[in-house]
This record gives sequence, C-alpha cells and structure tokens, in this order.
Amino acid sequence: MNVTIAGSGIAGGYLARLLERKGITVDIYDGMDHDTRCRCRSCGWGAPTGIKTYLADVGLDFNDYLIEPMSSMNFDGLVAKTPLCTLNKPRLIKDLARDTGLKQQNLEPEEADNYDIVVDATGIARAFLPPCWSDLTMPTLQHRVVVESRGDETLKAGACGNRIPGLGYLWIFPVGNNHYHIGTGGIGLVGLDSLLDRFYQDLSGRFSFTRLCSCRGSVRVASPYYSTPFFYKKTRKDGTSQVIIGIGESVGTVDPFTGEGIIFSLECAKIFADSWPDYKQYTRSVLARFAWMKKERETLDYLLSREGKGGPRLRDRWRFFQNARRSGIGLPVLEAFRKIGPLSQWVERPDEKF
Ligand SMILES: Cc1cc2nc3c(=O)[nH]c(=O)nc-3n(C[C@H](O)[C@H](O)[C@H](O)COP(=O)(O)OP(=O)(O)OC[C@H]3O[C@@H](n4cnc5c(N)ncnc54)[C@H](O)[C@@H]3O)c2cc1C
Repeated sequence: MNVTIAGSGIAGGYLARLLERKGITVDIYDGMDHDTRCRCRSCGWGAPTGIKTYLADVGLDFNDYLIEPMSSMNFDGLVAKTPLCTLNKPRLIKDLARDTGLKQQNLEPEEADNYDIVVDATGIARAFLPPCWSDLTMPTLQHRVVVESRGDETLKAGACGNRIPGLGYLWIFPVGNNHYHIGTGGIGLVGLDSLLDRFYQDLSGRFSFTRLCSCRGSVRVASPYYSTPFFYKKTRKDGTSQVIIGIGESVGTVDPFTGEGIIFSLECAKIFADSWPDYKQYTRSVLARFAWMKKERETLDYLLSREGKGGPRLRDRWRFFQNARRSGIGLPVLEAFRKIGPLSQWVERPDEKF
C-alpha cells in the first residue's frame, strides 16, 4: 500500500513525521507557490503555548520557534491574560518537512493516481476531496509592519471586533523586533484595505506604521461537520480502488469564531496517525473532538441569516464565552457575554479605544 500526502503545511508535515515514527513511509508533495514574502500561506502565526506537547511528540523544541509570548492581550479595550504566543511558522513548516523527502512540486491528479491512499492536506485548496457539504470561508488581509512608538508606549498584542462591521475582527500580533502582523478578516467583508488603513490612522498619534508586505488569504470556517466528506473512494483506470482522505483545514479543523487553525491541524493529524489505517474511526473521532466547531458554525449561520439580524442569542453569547475559556483567555464571564468578541455587528461600546 503506497501513500502520499498532498500539502506540507502544518497538518501534512506533522502527519509525515508521525507516520514515519510508526514506520510508514510516505511521499509528500508541496509546490509552496504562495505569493507571500515569507513563502508561506498567509497567517498570523499565533498559537497557544500548549502546542509544545505536539512539537515534542515529533522531537521538536517549542523554544526554537517561540517569537513572543502574548501573555496579556487587549480585546476591544479589555486586557486579559492569555496562553498565546507567536511562533516562527515558516521555520516550523521547514523543520517538519526536513528529512521527509519533500517533493517541491504540487501533486497533480495524474501523479496522484499512482498511490493507493492520497491524504489531502492542501488546506483551503482541498485539491483532492470533493467539495465540502456546506463550505464557509472568510477572506483576510494581513500586513507585516514595523511599529515605532512616538512615546514610550508599546503596541499591545490584541484583537478587536468593534472596529469591523459584520462578522469579523482585526488582530495585532507581535512577531519580533517591533514587527507585527496586523490583519483583518470577516465573512462577506469587502474593503479590508480601508479597515486596516483606518486602524493605522486612528493610532497614528501614538505610533508610526511602516508596511513591509501584504498578503490576502482566506480561511475555512465551515467546521469539520460541514466539511464532510472526509474520505472518498475512487476507482482508478486500471480498476483498482484508491482512498482520498483529508486532514487539517481541508476538512475544516479551524475555530469558526477566530480562524485559529494551527493547533487544531496538528491535533487532527495526530488523530489520523493514531487511528491509522481506520479512516472511518478517524472521521468519527474528528467529528466528536471538534463538535464544538459545529455549534460555532451554527452561530455564524444564525447571525448571517435574516433572523440573526436582531443580534446574538443567549446560546451564541455562551458559545463565545466558552470559546474564550477553551483558548485559556481570562475574559470575565460578563465581559465575554457583553463583548461577544469578533461577532461585532452588535457593537455595544463602539467608541472604546484600542
Ligand atoms: C490571514 C490568516 C491568518 C491566520 N492566522 C492564524 C493564526 O494566527 N493562528 C492560527 O492558529 N491559525 C491562523 N490561520 C489559520 C491557519 O493558517 C490554518 O488553519 C493552518 O495553517 C492550516 O494548516 P493546514 O496544514 O491544514 O493547511 P495549510 O497551512 O494551508 O497548508 C496546505 C499546504 O498545501 C499545499 N498545497 C495546496 N495544493 C497542493 C497540491 N495540489 N499539492 C501539494 N500541495 C498543495 C499548500 O502549498 C500549503 O503549503 C490564519 C489563516 C489566515 C488566512
């Protein structure tokens, strides 16, 4: 049985390493043809420090990738403790792929036919699986900027929803040496450039911003449940069968409220490796583990619907609170209920200063 992984991002690279540890050899392909300065897919590089256990499982040391802790963050004017940090994601992806024999080209369908199992780890592209049952994606725009303080203040890491219309938010992640990833995303949002420009304008009295690069992207916030099917059996030209099976963002392991996908892609790859070769069990485990993502997706659907125009229901606010708690963000329950973070269509204190 020969196996290939299409995509050497976080999920694909990690899976290659995990399978290798089980004595399973795979061919891994990735053309890495991203139109970005860092040669990686557009990403904020934010992750919880809990990622260290996943890295340790494949012999990598978290401290080699840590850029800055974000132990306190500003959420729409409220400062809360968090277990988040920024990581050198390009280096991590490179190290995950080291010694895996990565073929630096995309896997093409004709080539894929040579394999009995094709793992689709192609992220947003979902290049091999059939379309998601009910997809939902969020367009994004991110800049890398140098931030200079006009006084002695440091720009705090944070996320704000009250600057963004509709279902979206803006993030400020420090990535070392006064460099920041400042980005925004929102479902159905247009004019992302002007939202970032307004942010720079509003803070221009306190900080100067010099843009180094800019990238557009998109993140799948559909949830795993709505990203089924996870696997697909196909008959090849010679009559033999082939299985295509997805991991990571290709099957929606991304937090629908925040777009956070790094740690969940690792977790998904781990579930895959632990269930190998039982892909039905794998599917069941992923759906069970990420059942909360289905609920968040349902909140998004509700808020995007006509009925949702009246604002979030109690259950939507509860899901937001649980989201913050799951991420280890110390938002007091009442604040979490009141702010409802990125779900900012219903701004309650629009004049709050970042
Ligand atoms: C602007 C933005 C900011 C984000 N910020 C964060 C953040 O701060 N923290 C966080 O946790 N998540 C963030 N995310 C989400 C996160 O980047 C992804 O969810 C995560 O990287 C998914 O990992 P993956 O390995 O499944 O997919 P990807 O990282 O997208 O990797 C897929 C790989 O497949 C390759 N590929 C595509 N087609 C083919 C093919 N035919 N053959 C071979 N290879 C192919 C691509 O080149 C790519 O390298 C952000 C997303 C965006 C868009």
